[in-house]
Amino acid sequence: MRVLRVALDVPLATLFEYSRPEAFEVAAGDRVVVPFGTRSRVGVVVEEDAASSIAPQKLKPVTRVLEDTPRLPPQWLALMRFLAAYYQRPLGETVIGALPPRLKSLKPLPKKVRDAAAPLPASPRFIGNHVPSSDQARAIERIAGALGRFEPFLLHGITGSGKTEVYLHLIARVLQSGGQALVLVPEISLTPQLEARFRRAFPEARIALLHSALQDVPRTAAWLSAARGEAGIVLGTRLATLTPLPRLALVVVDEEHDTSFKQQEGLRYSGRDAAVIRAKFAACPVVLGTATPSLETWHNALAGRYARLSLPDRAVPGARLPVVRMLDLHREPADHGFAPGLLAAIGERLARREQSLVFINRRGYAPVLACHACGWTSGCERCTARMVLHKPERRLRCHHCGAEHAIPRACPTCGNVDLKAMGRGTQRVEETLEARFPQARVVRIDRDSARRRSELARTLEGIARGEADILVGTQLLAKGHDFPLLTLVGVLDADGGLVSTDYRAAERLYATLAQVAGRAGRREQPGEVLVQTHYPRHPLFASLASHDYAAFAAAQLAEREAAGFPPFVHEAALRAEADKLAQAMEFLGEAARLVPVPDEVRVYDPVPHVITRRADLERAQLLVQSHSRPALQGFLAAWSERLFATAPRSVRWHLDVDPIEFD
Ligand code: ADP
Ligand code: ZN
Ligand code: ZN
Repeated sequence: MRVLRVALDVPLATLFEYSRPEAFEVAAGDRVVVPFGTRSRVGVVVEEDAASSIAPQKLKPVTRVLEDTPRLPPQWLALMRFLAAYYQRPLGETVIGALPPRLKSLKPLPKKVRDAAAPLPASPRFIGNHVPSSDQARAIERIAGALGRFEPFLLHGITGSGKTEVYLHLIARVLQSGGQALVLVPEISLTPQLEARFRRAFPEARIALLHSALQDVPRTAAWLSAARGEAGIVLGTRLATLTPLPRLALVVVDEEHDTSFKQQEGLRYSGRDAAVIRAKFAACPVVLGTATPSLETWHNALAGRYARLSLPDRAVPGARLPVVRMLDLHREPADHGFAPGLLAAIGERLARREQSLVFINRRGYAPVLACHACGWTSGCERCTARMVLHKPERRLRCHHCGAEHAIPRACPTCGNVDLKAMGRGTQRVEETLEARFPQARVVRIDRDSARRRSELARTLEGIARGEADILVGTQLLAKGHDFPLLTLVGVLDADGGLVSTDYRAAERLYATLAQVAGRAGRREQPGEVLVQTHYPRHPLFASLASHDYAAFAAAQLAEREAAGFPPFVHEAALRAEADKLAQAMEFLGEAARLVPVPDEVRVYDPVPHVITRRADLERAQLLVQSHSRPALQGFLAAWSERLFATAPRSVRWHLDVDPIEFD
């Protein structure tokens, strides 16, 4: 029997079957209304001619087709099928999850969102800022030569080398020939400068902005503008990868190494990897741009699977990469977190009216509050973690579960009133700098100071205009910003990434330091980067100082190969959460015996997470590895089918394919 199979917004839904209505036409890709229980629901027809064991007279017909959305193209459905299969999630969840919020509901769309937009000029103007350098021109021509077919490129360019300028020139060509360009960035709302740059470059083009911080209606409007083919440029975070794009002709993934491209719930996809698949389906080039490629991408480039294009110099004439020096904390011990050499360098910048940036990747005042009388520390009741002291807000906060309460006046165990803040975060660094340089304007930027995006955008613009002397910040300050007056970057404690048990920690540390170092000296004045460390001769720092990513990557890849880690093997993690660790461990132990494990696949023993308890749940995971992607995929498919069928309700579990976080 032939039926329609429909994806519905029902938790963990597989597909639901309906019969074809008599009165109107329905096809795969249509957004439809269907009866479900006693109510109506919105769904997407995924298969229009499916075989079924149920007689059609027993099925209800589709109620109607919602014509305010375009029929989703077969290529988009094929992408959803690929992602659902690859990441081991139900197709229904994948399809519905890719829709913007308003298209999952029956609520009618506002008229201005529903109506098609007025057509734009056939070839929108491009206002280029610069004549491309010869390296830029070479990259542009090489990639433009691949328009119309699938080819992946790694655009490896140092910070400030003009990668964005290359994207803009390529997009201009795509728009000229009526195509759409998809540009993925890690966190668009943090880089308002980027959006402004795109709008200046293409004043007549329609640009759809897509990220999760948008309100439902503008996000739905942007999605529809992309799906109807009206927007020439789609600029967004990883979720934009899942937008239908009927005329897709170019995919760009900027800062491709950034871990925020990986979704950490539901369909745990990598936006970067999905972008490559997407380009393959659309037969168009994909450009992965970065100063510090992920080792997966670098490995692909070395193996010749991705064409490598280099921009080895800064684009602004006269601008050079900063000089990087290590401050040996054994030889110059830190006082209040600062080596004397760093304080002196900040003082020089103040005298010259240049800006300094102090980087510390920890927000809050201090990572723990402690009692020296009895040894009490501010632990979280719900997590295996410490509560972080936030002094201006007068709170203790858990960064893992969000729990918070007032700072206790005295030790809850022994009553001692002299509680001590241990270690430091951005707030304490800000306090130290204000005390040390009372005449300086110190601005702190982290997730606490930048609660509201509009506020952050204003602050960043102010900094660029010179309305700050010293910036204190986390990762948030490292990404993409262009501060012309900034000539000094100080890194307070870089050593955590050197001694971590996570084999990806060094890769992340290098990328972060190269990014933050890249903020210095973007104009004529040369930049300087001072890194405080107890390991000044560590090879990672040597590569950083000589700006030699290739040397760093070669050393890392050799280690990964010897230890049998990605990219030399493929991985998946099965994770479980339960009230008690024993339940999670037992579930994983049984799961490992659920289906036969092929020879090429290795299933490791379950282990508790480092942060074992989080938000009152105890967590464990087990790792699966294989040298063969098909063998791993085959095993995971059989395994997840059994897991969905047999897992007990007392345990929450998920599979993470190509996992990148193991905490
Ligand atoms: P990236 O994306 O690699 O960080 P950008 O494209 O943002 O680099 O360029 C860095 C800076 O160099 C920007 O201020 C940009 O306007 C400028 N720039 C880019 N290309 C050129 C060029 N060909 N000539 C002069 N300046 C350029
Ligand atoms: Zn005490
Ligand atoms: Zn907690």
